[in-house]
Amino acid sequence: MKMPKSQKGFLFDQNFCIGCKACEVACQVYHQQEDMIDWRHVDTFLIRENNMEKEVYLSQACHHCQEPACMSVCPTNAYTKRDDGIVILDRDKCIGCGYCMESCQYGAITLQGNDKKAQKCNMCAEKQDIGELPACIAGCPVKALRLVDIVVADEAGMVKSAVGFKQSSLKPSIRFYPKFRSATFLG
Ligand code: SF4
Ligand code: SF4
Repeated sequence: MKMPKSQKGFLFDQNFCIGCKACEVACQVYHQQEDMIDWRHVDTFLIRENNMEKEVYLSQACHHCQEPACMSVCPTNAYTKRDDGIVILDRDKCIGCGYCMESCQYGAITLQGNDKKAQKCNMCAEKQDIGELPACIAGCPVKALRLVDIVVADEAGMVKSAVGFKQSSLKPSIRFYPKFRSATFLG
């Protein structure tokens, strides 16, 4: 696979997310998703901290992996990776075999739509191309989601782990603010 020139990704702040699901809804509305389809999904986890139970949230969509399994297994080459690292699905090429869905360890692909073809987050590439933010990021009331260059995020001390998140060999392009912001990220 040709390596992209850069790699965009989502930066999520689990310290500040309030679990309102505005990101999930903004994505559904902007992309006119059918009922029960959510390219972005917010999960809730219960943790214990300082002897107190509390809920924390994790907002996830396609992670536009650096080693995207979906792209490797698709028999019709319906997936491509742009120079900015966004993984794009050409639904006209999809034959509905479901191999991509089975290969994605993040459950980011669904074939539950009426046409039974694959669908997933495209990081609102068409919005970004005209200088706008992805719908989920624009919709978050507490700015818990941001767009980042993964190399810049790593250099700024952003981390690869959060409650409920599984790392994998796919090299997912998501980073998290360190707990309680022990580092500052201005991007
Ligand atoms: S998260 Fe899944 S669908 Fe998205 S690029 Fe990675 S393997 Fe493909
Ligand atoms: S909109 Fe922001 S605060 Fe609300 S669930 Fe999504 S990431 Fe969390």
